[in-house]
Amino acid sequence: MSEPDTNLTGSESYASPAAVRQGGPPGAPAPIRIVSTDFDGTLYAPDENPPTPPEWWRRIRALQAQGVKWIVNTGRDMASWRSVWDPLAETAGTAPDGLILVEREIYERRGGEWRPWEEWNRRCREAHEALFRDLAAAAREWAAWARARGGAVIYEDPYSPLCIVGDTMEDAEAICGYVQAQLRRFPEAILVRNDVYARLAHRDFTKGAALRAVAERLGVGPENVFAAGDHLNDLSMLNLRAARRLAAPANAVVEVKEAVRRQGGWVSRLPHARGVLEAMDALSLGGRGATRENP
Ligand SMILES: [Mg+2]
Repeated sequence: MSEPDTNLTGSESYASPAAVRQGGPPGAPAPIRIVSTDFDGTLYAPDENPPTPPEWWRRIRALQAQGVKWIVNTGRDMASWRSVWDPLAETAGTAPDGLILVEREIYERRGGEWRPWEEWNRRCREAHEALFRDLAAAAREWAAWARARGGAVIYEDPYSPLCIVGDTMEDAEAICGYVQAQLRRFPEAILVRNDVYARLAHRDFTKGAALRAVAERLGVGPENVFAAGDHLNDLSMLNLRAARRLAAPANAVVEVKEAVRRQGGWVSRLPHARGVLEAMDALSLGGRGATRENP
């Protein structure tokens, strides 16, 4: 395995935020220090062969060689992430420096492994435990309503007392609309949606909040962060509070494209990773044409 041992802390390659802002010629875009990408549908398209094109791996290796930290920001949990990542790792020739999993937990790559950020993950877990205790009875009622309606698989898992997988997008929207209305009684709760799937979460722990926490720890401001995503669960990171350079591939849902456009980001005409690469060019991220192989 030729993958370098990367990590999110103790990096001597970071200047202070003030120094970073002063760097470069006047008027030049702020240098990118963090690339935060959704995975499924954004970098990874299982129906394509290969699911992630070699150009992506070349580009992200080149950016990492320049000191950029790559965060995969996904709804998958660790087991699900490993099931999709492990077969790709050799081709990739690199690995994300950090993972944000289940749209809320933070992991850092150290010693060739992803290790949890205990302090953040513990606060995240405690906030969810308290919230889910409060809404347990209500979630059972919502699940009963959804099962009676039909058109979706309804279940609970360790991450949410109510998970919805709609048979169709219309089913998912109808059930989510109902739950969303009920959530007015629980101001700390949000419904996180990704395609026909949805789950409950605490509003303080999202892809965007976790990305902001990583950036803060690295002393990186939002002007030095690039974020790319394709679905509703990406909206919290496709936000100028988290990242000033925003991208959506052509396959992104309308709400994501509108949010990215509205905030001056780049909506590509190309799907998946090729769309993200086009956005990187358009938004002057650099690393283009780099052919340097990973050491
Ligand atoms: Mg996605």
